[in-house]
Amino acid sequence: MSEGPEVRRAADKIAEAILGRSVADLQCKFITSILKEKIIGSTVLSVDTYGKNIIIHFSSNVYLRNHMMMWGKWRIYSRTEYDSGKAKPPIRVKWKKDLNNNKLANVSNKIENVAVLSDTDLITNVQNDPRTRLALITDTHVIVQFNGPILQFSEDNPLQHESITRLGPDALKPGFDIKEAKKRLKERIEMKLVDLLLDQTFVAGIGNKYKSEILFLLKVWPFRLAKDLSLSEQEKLFQKIRGVLKTGYLNAGRTRPQQHGENGKWNFRHWVFRRAGRPCWICDTPIIMDRHSSSRVTFWCPCCQQ
Ligand SMILES: [Zn+2]
Repeated sequence: MSEGPEVRRAADKIAEAILGRSVADLQCKFITSILKEKIIGSTVLSVDTYGKNIIIHFSSNVYLRNHMMMWGKWRIYSRTEYDSGKAKPPIRVKWKKDLNNNKLANVSNKIENVAVLSDTDLITNVQNDPRTRLALITDTHVIVQFNGPILQFSEDNPLQHESITRLGPDALKPGFDIKEAKKRLKERIEMKLVDLLLDQTFVAGIGNKYKSEILFLLKVWPFRLAKDLSLSEQEKLFQKIRGVLKTGYLNAGRTRPQQHGENGKWNFRHWVFRRAGRPCWICDTPIIMDRHSSSRVTFWCPCCQQ
């Protein structure tokens, strides 16, 4: 799951490994030989994000845009580790049948039903992993993209492509354009809040986790229409969007502050997300998981969010 804050944290790690470094080699099936030749030997000038996109700019004026969708992952290895064949790929999970409803267990709420493959099924060398889509090699590090469905190389700046320009303002950017976001809200006034927040052309970077968390902290029923928000609730919505995404970015995806004596385990990290049936942190009412009122699952408190 890659939402704006997680994508930006991944970009930070990529930048730490390759920014300013020269590209020694690049392995990818989705690049023309001309662009590949241009990238090899060039320097990484910047690693930026917009919403859920990562944009890498090379000194040869070639750009890479990556969007991980739901299943992409980046991993960073030292060159020594990679060359020695000891660089391990991310663990693969397999979906288990949920015996209650005979459907594939959904990782979002049935995490206990997900099992990893046995040791014999695991590939231990990243270089042999068929999920690898890109390996970008410098003299010190290798960054590897797994499963990433969008790896777009171009000589035009992706920030000027329609894939990015159509997006709403990015709430994680220092200059988050609230005026523009308000204009876009007015154009989407008939949408349910749960759908509005996932609409990347409204505000870029919010995914399903942050959606539920933002609406909980806003204390509104998640399935209200945007037009039913008062002006003060609209103001508060933008504050929460910005605040919750920033909290997630600064705290490795955690949206609920760690309380004294609590550990960092998953169950404590969020207000409502993936907490179906557990007591609300504020009022003790069991959190609801709703799969039917919108296209994506929503977690909410029926007492705090009326
Ligand atoms: Zn509550």
